[in-house]
Amino acid sequence: MEKCIFCKIVKGEIPSYKVYEDELVLAFLDITPANDGHTLIIPKLHRENIFDIKKEELERVALVAKRVAEKCKEALGEGECNIIHSTGKSAGQEVMHFHMHVVPRKESDGMNIWSGKNPKKPDFDKIARKLKIN
Ligand code: AMP
Ligand code: ZN
Repeated sequence: MEKCIFCKIVKGEIPSYKVYEDELVLAFLDITPANDGHTLIIPKLHRENIFDIKKEELERVALVAKRVAEKCKEALGEGECNIIHSTGKSAGQEVMHFHMHVVPRKESDGMNIWSGKNPKKPDFDKIARKLKIN
């Protein structure tokens, strides 16, 4: 993916603040951080979203997210965090290369990631039936 900004970061064509790298994934600081320590974890190969990413890559991304969260606790003293992934524009995905955010949190930071919650109750029975995984 020639134009993908995260592919360029993987190739070293644009700079980044790397915190972890292995054969499958890369973790680097978000350039517009919500809080200090805000880190992105990506597969090195271009995968667009949750449907695209291979299971092995997703497992590694998740494990590295845990390690990043642990490191934020250890090194920054931030023992609370959100781990966020968005698939698709309506979900807020801006960079179309799969990424997971680790965002360290503190009570006074004023962030509210659930500000768009719908107060109306849906038909839970019907939805749960539709979503049942066998
Ligand atoms: P999302 O809205 O989930 O697609 O998040 C994309 C994230 O990528 C945003 O939080 C941006 O700040 C971040 N971002 C965009 N370009 C760069 C870059 N060159 N280096 C680091 N982070 C970036
Ligand atoms: Zn890419």
